[in-house]
Amino acid sequence: MLETRQQKLNKQYLSGLSEDELISLITKFQWPSFKARQIHSWIYKKYISSIDEMTDLSIKDRNFLSEHCELSLLELVQKQVSQDKTIKYLWNLTDGGKIESVRMFLEDHDSYSACISSQAGCAVGCPFCATGKMGFKRNLKAQEIVDQILGMQRDTKERISNVVFMGQGEPLLNYDEVLTAINLIKGSVGIGSRHITLSTSGIIPGIKKLSDEKLQITLAISLHAPDQKTREFLVPVSKQYNLNELMESLHYYYRKTKRRITLEYVMLDKINDQIEKAKELSDLIKGLHCHINLIPYNPIEHSFKDPGNSSILQRPSNGKIYNFKAILEKRSGKKVTIRRERGIDIAAACGQLANLFTNL
Ligand code: SF4
Repeated sequence: MLETRQQKLNKQYLSGLSEDELISLITKFQWPSFKARQIHSWIYKKYISSIDEMTDLSIKDRNFLSEHCELSLLELVQKQVSQDKTIKYLWNLTDGGKIESVRMFLEDHDSYSACISSQAGCAVGCPFCATGKMGFKRNLKAQEIVDQILGMQRDTKERISNVVFMGQGEPLLNYDEVLTAINLIKGSVGIGSRHITLSTSGIIPGIKKLSDEKLQITLAISLHAPDQKTREFLVPVSKQYNLNELMESLHYYYRKTKRRITLEYVMLDKINDQIEKAKELSDLIKGLHCHINLIPYNPIEHSFKDPGNSSILQRPSNGKIYNFKAILEKRSGKKVTIRRERGIDIAAACGQLANLFTNL
């Protein structure tokens, strides 16, 4: 007989639990703790899709476990595969909400990277970002964050070896759950700190708190402008968090972790791509151990329109982008890269995640 949704909701979800949490769960079943290690290994190392596949548990144990537990919190609704093999996933949350994640192939490393969401929707509202247009729905639990990685592994049977918190949401506005998720990614999924990147719009108290954790993860900042006024337009939360104080918090992060910071800079025609902005930016980052990643703007629907109804946000020409890069590199002496676009044909590129799947 098929289970109702409510029956499923009353169960404990296994995916995304730590080994200690699995031990305390099965202790309630009066099972020995080695079975928790077996279950942990099936979930994190063998990419199973159902409890029935845990074949080193007896059929009786598997039946018992199925009665009381569900494997995964996330239900795969749809996936799209890009021409460049990027895969975009749309997941149902248990409360009916939806989130997206993206798996990218990293040719240089012959490995896969997962771009995951930390919130359903986002409250920050950056005008170039599709997620921002959706508004904020809710924070994700650590289990829901980690299960996105496990779900991609279940689907493809291939290991993810890199994780970026660059999907939907502002991770530092969901600090505790994100930190728990990072610890699970390190301890249970088995991805080292140096392969985890957290990208923030610049929530200063969160950056300071994260600095004090002294994790060896990479911190990426959505900087997008070298001056307060332009930044307030592009990253509205910066009205609350001043640019100079943000820069101070980045120096603090480096002092505490000795990790080079990544500065992300979405390139928008006539808004932040002028030569003066490149010069201002090189002055701003003087003395900061950082790398700058230029992100050519990816068009989204519903972006800001002028009275003639054409979008105010436009991508600069390649010539302008390369010129900006050259000036910035020369003046700052820092490494500047231009982000390679992935999944643009399926709206899986940076700033395009808005649950906009077709046929839904
Ligand atoms: S860019 Fe990031 S912080 Fe800004 S609206 Fe989009 S998801 Fe939120």
